[in-house]
This record gives sequence, C-alpha cells and structure tokens, in this order.
Amino acid sequence: MEFALTPRLAELKERAASLTGKIMPYEDACENDNGLSPEAHAAIREEVLAHGLQAVNMPVEWGGAGLSVLEQVVVQDELGKLTNALWDAVWRPANCLRACTPEQRERYLVPDILGNRRDAVAITEEHAGSDPSRITTTATRDGDGYVINGEKWFVTVGDVADFLIVLAYVRPDDQPTMFLVDKDTPGISVKRTPRYTHTFVYEHPEFVFEDVRVGPEAVLGRIGEGYDLTRDWFTEERLMIAARTIGAAERALRLAVDWAKEREQGGDLLINRQMIQAYIADSVTEIATNRAFTHQVAWEFDQGGDRKTLHAKAATAKLAASEASNRIVDRCLQIFGGRGYMRENAVERLWRELRVDRIWEGTSEVQRLVIANETAKRGLDDLLSFTTG
Ligand SMILES: Cc1cc2nc3c(=O)[nH]c(=O)nc-3n(C[C@H](O)[C@H](O)[C@H](O)COP(=O)(O)OP(=O)(O)OC[C@H]3O[C@@H](n4cnc5c(N)ncnc54)[C@H](O)[C@@H]3O)c2cc1C
Repeated sequence: MEFALTPRLAELKERAASLTGKIMPYEDACENDNGLSPEAHAAIREEVLAHGLQAVNMPVEWGGAGLSVLEQVVVQDELGKLTNALWDAVWRPANCLRACTPEQRERYLVPDILGNRRDAVAITEEHAGSDPSRITTTATRDGDGYVINGEKWFVTVGDVADFLIVLAYVRPDDQPTMFLVDKDTPGISVKRTPRYTHTFVYEHPEFVFEDVRVGPEAVLGRIGEGYDLTRDWFTEERLMIAARTIGAAERALRLAVDWAKEREQGGDLLINRQMIQAYIADSVTEIATNRAFTHQVAWEFDQGGDRKTLHAKAATAKLAASEASNRIVDRCLQIFGGRGYMRENAVERLWRELRVDRIWEGTSEVQRLVIANETAKRGLDDLLSFTTG
C-alpha cells in the first residue's frame, strides 16, 4: 500500500489550488449579483484553459485533460473550496457523452471540451426524481426521426447550455433513451427559473418540450440504453461530489480555526474552549476519514474493478462525505456566531451550498438503498475490503 501523493498528483493538486485561487475573487460578485458577467465568465474560461484543467474527465486526444478518476478527485477536492458553485465554471462534460458517435463528438463533445459549447443533463421531472423510471417525456417516431414531448425540471446550467441531454421514452414500447437536443430547436421553452437555497453561478431552469423534432442522429448511445448511460454518469459524479464536499469542509474548518484563534470572549480565546475544541476535533476526524475513503475508491475505479461494487462504493463515499461535510460547515458557522450567518462569510455560503449535495445525483436515502441492495445481493465482502489490485 502506498498513500503518498505521487509527484504527478502533487503537481495537479497545486495546479487546481492555483486555479481555485484565481476564481475565488469572483465569489462576492457572484453572490451579490446572482451570477457573473460575460466578461467574468470569459476570464475564468481563459484561466481554466491556461491551467489545463478543462474537461478533466475527457481524453487528451479530444482536447480534454485526460485525468484518471483519482486525479479528478484530487482536482475536485481543491475546486470544492469555491463558493457559489464556481467549481462548475471549470467545465466537465457529462460522462455519458463518451457514447457519442464520431459525428456527434465533432458537433457536441469536442466543442464542449474546449469550452465553446455547454451541455446540461435533463432527466428529472415533476413526478420522476429518485425514480427516473417514472418519466413521462416521450420520443415518438416520425419518419426516421423523433418528436419529443414532455417537461424537465432542475436542469443545472440550463441557462447557458446550448444543448440538452434529454432522457425520454421511445414509443411505442417505452425504451428509455438519451437524446442530444440543441436548445434552440423549435418547441423548446423555459417554463420557470426558480430560486434555490444556494446562489449558484448558473441557474436550474425547467424546460418544456412541445413537438420538438430531432433526427435519428440525436440518439445518444443506443435506443433503450438511457438508464445505463444515466447510471454511468452517476457513479463517477458521486465520487466527485464526495471530493468537492470534503474540500469545501476543509475551507470552512480552516476559516473557523483562524477565527477561533483570534476571537476572545469571556476572557479567553475560543480555541481554548473545550466545546469549540470538540467541534474542531470532530471536523478534523470527518474530513480526514472521508478524504482517505474517497481517494481509496477513486483509486479502485482506476484499477478497473467490478462496476456494481464500485457503484455501491461511490454511493458510500458520497453519502458519508456529503453528510459529514454538512455537519462540519454547520459547526464552523456556529464557531463564527452571528458573523457565520452573514452572506459575506464564505462559511455561510458553504453551509447553504452543501445542502444540495445530500439531494442531487441521488439523495442520501437513495445512496443507502444502493448500498443496502448491494449488500443483500452480493454480500459485504467487496464493500468492506480493499481491492486486491
Ligand atoms: C439544485 C438542484 C440541481 C439539480 N440538477 C439536476 C440536473 O442538472 N439534471 C437533472 O436531471 N436533475 C437535477 N436535479 C434533480 C435531483 O437529481 C433530484 O432532486 C433528486 O434526484 C431527488 O428527486 P426529487 O427532488 O424528485 O425528490 P423525490 O424523489 O420525490 O424524493 C423526496 C424524498 O423522498 C425520499 N425517497 C424517494 N424515494 C425513496 C425510497 N425509495 N425510499 C426512501 N426514501 C425515498 C428522497 O430521498 C427524498 O428525501 C437537481 C436538483 C437540485 C435541487
């Protein structure tokens, strides 16, 4: 077993920290204005490219940074320190786009990788959240193409994306299928753009699809393969969420510790108060253990283990890290007292922003179902042991 960061990982971590430092000054503007100006987005894009951290999940030959899963985790851990979800300005095309045909790759994926196009994933609907099989969006055959009808909710980046990856049932036999749909295709409209707890650099609009005509070339992967592509996306994305929430918790803890060292009340510094020390100790413990496990599972991904085991292990990492990070930012806010409740305090923003990590890409309850189902079907051995490599 080897736990040291290799020179390559250490360099990547430093590079990601440098990019994080370049983006961090935009946080206040993003919070105050609920988003960033086109100039700010352009400047961030240049920094992402200059740091070579565009599309870290995509191969170098297509223009991506071509990082392994462990390398991506190291990068996301740093980027997670950013508030206002500015980590999402460091674009990572949806993993399912790896299923593109060569023509789709040229039209969608390569420009997406280079930051010239942007995708948004549209799976969730009003009556289909944790259970995507309940979607009612349909794609009806029309000549050699399809006509899509339905509604999609919570489409992250839907405001700036110029194409959507849409899950629909292909009629008549309701085969779940992903479609690549240009956002300016006639029949697509934004129904609502709700405000959420967090201030996110992008929006999460709701879309209506009314007789949206697409050609056969819009099908991503094969007809009926929609759930498989969705699952593929979730598995790695859950590990990235685990990594980002750990980075976020570390930032909050560092700020809270600095504060506790300078804030004196009742004749002593907060850092000398045992109740505050307990908050700090619990937070250190949760960050250290979750970081270690998330790195372990990422490494196991790169060894190419069994997909079902990895799926359950990624669920374990997401569940543990996102729940722990929510506890940590809550403690850190408490250490700041009233100042912790001010939006100008990064800890306050992290406290609001980390809440969604217990909901999206599968709620905490869904992660528990994944872990418990795997336990019931195949036992505990693989879930509890290290891979033998
Ligand atoms: C800010 C934000 C951004 C998002 N971005 C996207 C996006 O880009 N694309 C996209 O497609 N979706 C997106 N989502 C949707 C997200 O994935 C869903 O919200 C999530 O899957 C939960 O679905 P739901 O909200 O419908 O809750 P529900 O599925 O209705 O669940 C409600 C509650 O019931 C629990 N529950 C559900 N089923 C079970 C069960 N079997 N056993 C026990 N408990 C259960 C849940 O855990 C939850 O606590 C986003 C959501 C948010 C909030």
